[in-house]
Formats: sequence, structure tokens, C-alpha cells
Amino acid sequence: MPKMKTHQLTKYTGAVKNFYGVIPGSGKAAIHQQAPTEESLSQAVVDIYSALKPQLAVMDGIVGMEGEGAENISKVAISETDCKRCGICIKSCPASAITLEPRPLIDQEKCIKCYCCHELCSNSAVKLKTSFLDRQLLKTMQYNKT
Ligand code: SF4
Ligand code: SF4
Repeated sequence: MPKMKTHQLTKYTGAVKNFYGVIPGSGKAAIHQQAPTEESLSQAVVDIYSALKPQLAVMDGIVGMEGEGAENISKVAISETDCKRCGICIKSCPASAITLEPRPLIDQEKCIKCYCCHELCSNSAVKLKTSFLDRQLLKTMQYNKT
């Protein structure tokens, strides 16, 4: 079931974007490679949804990921301690942004923040990080809500 949240490229993830999940892991990376922009990825998401023609889509929007979605991720990084150097993330990265030698590293200039590596790493070695400024803004927003 999709949850209402923000997304780096499509801006919003809901019942339509959720059907992107039917594509197997490496297929997702291939689509990201062919459709790296906001417009092209959004078009790909709509195409997938149109091909599936679901009868019903129910979304959990009780608590939206306001301000904590992918939009606020400033950096994708690999934990040297957790990484087992299996190489799966390298094969799935559409931007060829990952190197493992001499140590696991993501080229931030190349990374398009598709999060395929984060999704496919079974060792939880890929970390999504927010910047110090974003963390302070989130804290302020949460404080203002109380
Ligand atoms: S998939 Fe995970 S464990 Fe494997 S190389 Fe990449 S970061 Fe390391
Ligand atoms: S988030 Fe960045 S490093 Fe990870 S697969 Fe996507 S482009 Fe590659």
C-alpha cells in the first residue's frame, strides 16, 4: 500500500508512483538510466500505471511524510563498516557513481539520487543523509506543530 510522501524527482509519491514497485530491482535502475529527469521519470511512471490499468488503488495518507521524504535527502553514502563489497549496488547504479576500491564511495557529482542502491543493498550499508540545515528546519517544523 502506498504512503503519501515526497520524492526527489516526481515530487510526490502516491498510488500512481507506487506501481513503479512492480518493476524488479535491476529493471528500476535501467528505467532510471533511461529516464533521469523529472519529466521523463514521471512519464515512465504514468506509462507503467497505464499498462497495468489497476482497478483500484488505496493509499495510506493518514500520516504524510511531510518534510522527511526523499526531497530532503542531501547525500547518499556507503558505510565502509557495513559494506560487504558484494557489488550489487555498482551493477544497479544508473549513473555509474559507485566505486568500491580502495573503499566504498559514491561520487556525489554523478549521483542522481534514484536510491536504487539503497533499495537493493541487503546489508543496509547505503545510508540516506540529510544536511545539518535540513535537520534544523525539520526540528523547527516539528516544534511549531506541537
Ligand atoms: S550492495 Fe551494499 S554491501 Fe554490496 S557493495 Fe553495495 S553497499 Fe556494499
Ligand atoms: S542513489 Fe546515486 S549512487 Fe545510488 S544508485 Fe542512484 S545514482 Fe547510483
